[in-house]
Amino acid sequence: MKQGIVYLIGAGPGDPGLITVKGQECLRRAEVVIYDYLANPAFLDEAPACAERIYVGKTRGCHHTPQESINRLLAEKAKQGKVVARLKGGDPYVFGRGGEEALHLHHEGVRFEVIPGVTAGFAAAAYAGIPLTHRDFTTSLALVTGHENPEKKMSSLDWQKLATGVGTLAFYMGMANLPLIAEQLMAHGRPADTPVAVIRWATTPRQRTLVATLADVVEKVRQAAFKPPAVIVVGEVVRLREQLRWFDDRPLFGKRVLVTRTAEQAGSFGRLLEAQGAEAISCPVIDIVPPPSWEELDREIDGLEQTDILILTSANAVDAFFERLRACGRDVRALHGVTVVAVGPKTAAAIETRGLRPDLVPADYRAEGVVALLLERGVAGKRVLYPRAEIARELIPRELSAAGASVAAPVVYRTLAPTQGKGQVLAALEEGIDAVTFTSSSTVENFVAMLGDDAPQRLEKVPVISIGPLTTATARRLGLTVAAEAAASTLEGMVEAMVEYFSRNPEVRIQKPE
Ligand code: SAH
Repeated sequence: MKQGIVYLIGAGPGDPGLITVKGQECLRRAEVVIYDYLANPAFLDEAPACAERIYVGKTRGCHHTPQESINRLLAEKAKQGKVVARLKGGDPYVFGRGGEEALHLHHEGVRFEVIPGVTAGFAAAAYAGIPLTHRDFTTSLALVTGHENPEKKMSSLDWQKLATGVGTLAFYMGMANLPLIAEQLMAHGRPADTPVAVIRWATTPRQRTLVATLADVVEKVRQAAFKPPAVIVVGEVVRLREQLRWFDDRPLFGKRVLVTRTAEQAGSFGRLLEAQGAEAISCPVIDIVPPPSWEELDREIDGLEQTDILILTSANAVDAFFERLRACGRDVRALHGVTVVAVGPKTAAAIETRGLRPDLVPADYRAEGVVALLLERGVAGKRVLYPRAEIARELIPRELSAAGASVAAPVVYRTLAPTQGKGQVLAALEEGIDAVTFTSSSTVENFVAMLGDDAPQRLEKVPVISIGPLTTATARRLGLTVAAEAAASTLEGMVEAMVEYFSRNPEVRIQKPE
């Protein structure tokens, strides 16, 4: 039998970008993934689809799986010859009981490797704008547990030395004992005005930072109802946050933005939103499915030698066209001599990934722009191929035919409303959403169809952001109020519109999940 192995992997503090390359690589080979609540669930998608996934999470006071059972489980799976990825929040050997797990594996004779991770204290400080050391302020740092083994007394910490012998202190699991921590540090000689930062859900869009002093931190935390998980950083370096903040002062920081496009397309938009600090919540209200028949497109692909102009107005159309081209046994060479028109930069980028550069992109990224551009160049007598969505407007075929072109417009994809989406959308609205985004008329139509008659009422207090005039018109027709519309009909344009909207309306704040 193949020998099993356990990788104790540090998953980092929350931001999925903060796992190591090696950790990610192990995860991709895992046959069993054993994870707990501090490891970002997004990592589970990294493991092979067939890998077994076991949750052994625990939150304070509510131990889901006792440590002994976790230890046993790790050894047992490895002894079955499996590659086991044990994902642990932060670093496995920093207050994560990784040491206990490794010792158990050692005693059981099971092979293991440890892959360090970015520990919460380092990450929280970095993302809050606090250098844990800075030679003008401190030369030493201690990572301290604020919640010791329950059998031991908290007082086993050497408060005297911690209070005066170390520059910066980072307490983990310290929220419940915060009054004791503050009191002991002051009682043992740390000045009452020493700054303290409490950083919660660090590195995620839910990160919140509270700055206080040892004297008033308990009261401030109580007022703000700050809860774990949080790291408490004590020391003069906290003062640097004022100048060094970079994460939580981005324009859309903390905004929960509902993305209604298809699951496949949500990713790129999500990344743009996240780059500005928003949390993208994907609730696809659209599914892309193939047309009932490929017959018409196949005929056109067969006759590409006669085609003069190929018009592509969405990344979906690009994917469908090129995949069908391939299925028909042809490749991009079949487009030799064909003028390729992309409606806008996103479609152009999708075309480029297929090894082809579009010849024309209009200045106005809409069907109107394509028509204007082509009419200007003249289309009389030209053969035009326009692979399109079932619901695409007739504008392009109509205008180009009127100008003397012969236009074939085969349907290459259809958009459907997913049947399961309603619960997901309602749950997201219930939890609190700061903006809803619509990137096409069909997303609005499906969204409203999904929620039914009370859609406008449910969105009454939520700003609706639209990609452009057509989507806005559809939204208005269906009773929604559009808060902002992208100046350029692109995803980037939507993000800009949102940034601008929130800078004009800073008071817009929807309830946040705790
Ligand atoms: N092994 C982990 C620590 C586990 S102990 C590591 O290296 O980070 C759990 C404690 O870590 C929590 O009580 C909290 O103090 C801290 N913690 C973990 N993730 C955190 C996060 N995203 N934000 C703030 N604190 C976090």
